[in-house]
Amino acid sequence: MAAGNPVDAPADLAAFRCAHDAVLARIAAAGTRVGRAPGDVTLVAVSKTVPADRLGAAVAAGLTTLGENRVQEAEEKAGMLPGVTWHLVGPLQSNKARRAVAIFDVIQSVDSSDLARRLDRLAGEERPGTPLPVLLQVNVDLDLAKAGFSPASVAAALPEILALPNLRVAGLMTIGRLAASPEAARPAFRALRELSERLRARYPGLGPALSMGMTDDFEVAVEEGATIVRVGRAIFGSRLPR
Ligand SMILES: *Cc1c(COP(=O)(O)O)cnc(C)c1O
Repeated sequence: MAAGNPVDAPADLAAFRCAHDAVLARIAAAGTRVGRAPGDVTLVAVSKTVPADRLGAAVAAGLTTLGENRVQEAEEKAGMLPGVTWHLVGPLQSNKARRAVAIFDVIQSVDSSDLARRLDRLAGEERPGTPLPVLLQVNVDLDLAKAGFSPASVAAALPEILALPNLRVAGLMTIGRLAASPEAARPAFRALRELSERLRARYPGLGPALSMGMTDDFEVAVEEGATIVRVGRAIFGSRLPR
């Protein structure tokens, strides 16, 4: 498919409807296996590297919650795609935090107390009276290749972060280790859910959201309690390296 060619827009629309339905059906089936209600899981379609003109068809096909991992790329797309709820799923440099607060509806990748404090201050300036929903990224399997709080450090940081007036801590997020099989990701997903349960028993201000699972393992994540899955390739096809 010639991505981005306007002539292909109807074909893209049909293909996106199909891909969207297929992912929703797989989420529902995974939920059913463990007795969860189908509406429990939010699908974030991770659209990094997908050009804005192709995304128009995706939005028309009902994929209205998009995830991006770069501020500038999201800014360019947001100007062309009204009506989208934008999630930041990638690392945020402090010098781009203000622009991120202006663009994103949810920041899933809060990986330090410093970043939380900065986002709180900026949200107070950019969107006073409307706390910014965030997730705290936890490196549950202590993978050195990934950002995020360790389970111990998130517990230590939570009281201060929950007290920040301009943030709403909706829950926790994790990025699974690159694994040979979906099952290999299960222990990390289960660990995130159990960490969330322990923390929420102590800190009721922490929200119940659990963002975990991507194309290769989102069904396992749903079985383990994911309330948000972040799916790119199963919807948009494989990405070219950039
Ligand atoms: C790219 C990305 C995804 C989506 O990955 P796929 O394997 O394409 O589904 C999810 N979460 C994060 C943080 C990402 O960077």
